[in-house]
This record gives sequence, structure tokens and C-alpha cells, in this order.
Amino acid sequence: MFLKGKSAIVTGSTSGIGLAYAKAFAAEGASVMINGFGDAAAIEQERAALEATSGAKALYDAADMTKAEAIEAMVKRCHDELGGPDIIVNNAGIQHVAPIDEFPTDKWDAIIAINLTSAFHMMHAAIPYMKAAKWGRIISTASAHSLVASPNKSAYVAAKHGIAGLTKTAALEVATHGVTVNAISPGYVWTPLVENQIPDTMKARGLTREQVMNDVLLAAQPTKEFVTPEQVAALAVFLCRDEAKSITGANMTVDGGWTAA
Ligand code: NAD
Repeated sequence: MFLKGKSAIVTGSTSGIGLAYAKAFAAEGASVMINGFGDAAAIEQERAALEATSGAKALYDAADMTKAEAIEAMVKRCHDELGGPDIIVNNAGIQHVAPIDEFPTDKWDAIIAINLTSAFHMMHAAIPYMKAAKWGRIISTASAHSLVASPNKSAYVAAKHGIAGLTKTAALEVATHGVTVNAISPGYVWTPLVENQIPDTMKARGLTREQVMNDVLLAAQPTKEFVTPEQVAALAVFLCRDEAKSITGANMTVDGGWTAA
């Protein structure tokens, strides 16, 4: 339990990869602040389970990642109620699949806000606390799409490439403060985000569900297997170890070989 006494905020952790990060940090004894949308009773169940795992506090904050003030308030609340934040994970994300000439402007704005700009607000609010503590870990869930593109995902690819650049810049700024900043870039992970884009991809490309699964999603992944949320979370836990203090400004793939091709 090497994270005992530390606190972690994970944005977008009511589901998928974010929930796996929260569980993995709790398993190492961290107090965690979870965030995201969903059914109130289900969220409360997850929150209580995190406390049972860690033996430390777990809180839920409903901050909407499109709202700068809500993000700043969540970070302050973590500081006041859990200490730190020692670890922040910028993970909330949405997707929309359509060609640029048909891409709805409001979807573009929402994806840039949630998948990219929220990470800036999180860092803006948390870095002063980390500098004061002379320790911090900032991790962002980027994507294979931070390194390569796919058609019909303009906003997502732009946001994730943005995360890669923001990660490098922040890493340089805090390098002498005991704070590391890294991105983790998964390939296709089986979560609701992937499940939900299947109907749109079927429509955009005129394919069946089976064809989208095999010819679009797993076609890119040489292992022909989905990545699991737990595999992604295990890397985040490693990045919090002292042994990982020289890893900063990196964008680490967990993509079954996708971007090696
Ligand atoms: P998911 O849909 O299971 O989870 C997304 C989370 O973000 C949920 O908790 C949701 O409530 C939250 N969220 C959405 N909008 C929000 C908002 N405005 N404010 C606060 N929270 C909000 O998806 P996931 O697959 O677990 O995705 C998590 C991250 O991983 C995303 O950044 C995604 O781009 C990235 N990613 C996913 C995959 C994949 O294949 N699933 C691959 C690479 C990267």
C-alpha cells in the first residue's frame, strides 16, 4: 500500500478506464476523489467500495469537465477534505464520429472542452499544491489517437494530440519540483465509450456491427485483443512509484502494437 497518505483525483471515473484507475489507487491505500456522470446509487456503491478497499476516504464530486469553475472547486475540495491532491488523472472523455464536413460544431466544442481543456484546468488548479508539497504525479489518458489519426474522429484526434503536447510542456515546467507529467495512450479498450461509437461508425462507414468490431476496431490492433482497463491502470500505478520519478514528459502506449505498425 505505497500510496497510503496520498490523495488522487480521477476525472471521468464513474465508468471504464477511470474507474479502474480509482480502484487501482485505492488498492494501494490512496484516498480518491471520483468524478463523472451516472446513476447516483451506482456511484455511491463504487465510492463506498473504494473506501472499503483503501481503508481511506473516498469522495465523489460531480464537476462537469466543461466548466472551469467546477474543476477548480473540485481540486480545492480535494485539498480541503483529502489533502493534496498528490495525484491527478485527466481521464474524462467523450467521442463523436462523423466526417469534418458533417461534424456538428457543438460536438467539436464539447470534445475539445472535455478531452483537452479540462486537463489544463486540472493542472492549473493542482500544480500549486504539488509544487508546495514538492511531489506530484500528473497523468492524462491520451490515446493511440494522440499519435496517429483515424478518419471521422477529427475533434478526438485533435484533442488527444493536444494532450500529448500539453503533457510535454507541463513536464518541462515542473521538472525540478518533484512532479512528473505523463500521458498513457491506450489502443481500443472495451468500455462504454467504444460500445457507444459502434452505431455511428456503422452508419458513417456503412458496415455491420461485426464488421466494425473486427475490420475497424481490432483491425488496428496487432494483438487482435482489446486492452483492459486494469492494464492501463497498472501503468498509472507504476508511474506513481519512486522508481518512476525520472519518467516525465512521456507518452506511453498500451495499444497492443497499434502505433508500431
Ligand atoms: P467511458 O465512457 O467508460 O468513461 C468516460 C467517463 O468520463 C465517464 O465517467 C463519464 O461520466 C465521464 N464524463 C464524460 N463527460 C464528462 C463531463 N462533461 N464531466 C465529467 N465527466 C465526464 O470511457 P473510457 O473508454 O473509460 O474513456 C476514458 C478515457 O480513455 C477517455 O479520455 C478516452 O478518450 C480514453 N481512451 C479510451 C479508449 C477506449 O478504447 N475505450 C482508448 C484510448 C483512450
